[in-house]
Amino acid sequence: MAKLFGSSGVRGLVNSFLTPELACKVGLAVASYAKADKALVARDTRVSGSMIEDALVSGLLACGVRVSLVGSVPTPVLAYATMRLKADVGFMLTASHNPPQYNGIKIFDGTSLSYTDESQTAVEKIIAENSFDMADWREISEASNVDVKPFYFEMARDAVALCKKWRVVVDSGCGATFDVGPALLKNAGCHVTALNAQPDGFFPARSSEPTAESLKDLMQVVKEVGADVGVAFDGDGDRVAFVDAEGSFMDFDLLLAAYAAYSVKRACGGTVVTNVEASMCVENMAEKFGGKVVRTRVGDVYVSEAIKRYGAVFGGEPCGAWVHPSFHYCPDGPFSAVLLLKALEEEDKSLREFVAEVPKYVTLRENLPCRNDLKHKVVASIEKAANAVFPEYTNLSTVDGVRIALNTGWLLIRASGTEPLIRVTVEGESLKAANDIMGRGTVLIENQYEELKK
Ligand code: MG
Repeated sequence: MAKLFGSSGVRGLVNSFLTPELACKVGLAVASYAKADKALVARDTRVSGSMIEDALVSGLLACGVRVSLVGSVPTPVLAYATMRLKADVGFMLTASHNPPQYNGIKIFDGTSLSYTDESQTAVEKIIAENSFDMADWREISEASNVDVKPFYFEMARDAVALCKKWRVVVDSGCGATFDVGPALLKNAGCHVTALNAQPDGFFPARSSEPTAESLKDLMQVVKEVGADVGVAFDGDGDRVAFVDAEGSFMDFDLLLAAYAAYSVKRACGGTVVTNVEASMCVENMAEKFGGKVVRTRVGDVYVSEAIKRYGAVFGGEPCGAWVHPSFHYCPDGPFSAVLLLKALEEEDKSLREFVAEVPKYVTLRENLPCRNDLKHKVVASIEKAANAVFPEYTNLSTVDGVRIALNTGWLLIRASGTEPLIRVTVEGESLKAANDIMGRGTVLIENQYEELKK
């Protein structure tokens, strides 16, 4: 059976992997699986969006689903609207932060939660077996249009009222937040300067992935106009990155940890969810205020699922995907920006001061060559062999690769998805500690590889 879903929906090169034929089958299969009566369909600004939308909608209509077309909105707006309008399923056509020649289909259920592995596998099976639940011809209807933005604006307005008139530069990167991003901050009372706020599926201004490298223009404009904060979103608006008043890109891990601490403090305790790659400063900060951290596999689906399961107060990944479960379960870039400003107001801090308390650690990354047929076996063998090399470890988790926690840091060992490599990530409380962990970790992996090659 072909694996169609990755860690964030069905995604690939348009007209090569993601064809109209596949989009139609996804529509047919999800409608059959969910026994859906009502669906919402939205897309980002990619040039292939309309083509993929038509194909997907055709599949949904063929199964008798009532379809509402949302148009170009950010992923969190679609996810929230799916729940708010009591649809059975919501589709977001986007390849997130990938280059413009890619597109994808993210699927949300009626609670705003992304389809989990179980649902994805069930959909793949229906496609493989061609067992679609087609409707009687009399039940086929026409798709209609719906404007869901007012519902999203209403959610944010009821949740947050800012006291200060923040000067904010918003960089939508020509993606799905082009109008909603600046508007949400304006509605909250900010003075907004909008950058790259024209929808353009070629992403001519910058990469759709917000990084220190791709946000050079934003960093400069923040300084030039004397703004308090710069905000940037990825292609579909489920990630957010921040720039401080000095025009410096804010470290994702430090901000995640600072906001986690704020959430726990506000809730007087509670659980925070993050993935295995995030810095240990998340534990450090959350535990300070009586919170507890749960770690999942990499991928926002896993983070959101765990947030729901553990009733967490907050969760996120160190790529700027933050989930606020009191509102919905989808990572939400624009809403996170407004909530962060509210946090700064409550703490009476600048962005720089907000992260100042978070301890900074040293991260090292290495890729070790390893045959494709052995890389997963090597990683699987680490659990048993770890004790000999790291007798002092405090925790060992196999939720995603192998993550070994020590008092002085941690290491994460994962097989590359595509290349003949084993990827090692190490974080240490100092460079000396990080080098020591990386040195011992490398020996451990190489020894296991030698053993398995015999
Ligand atoms: Mg995204």
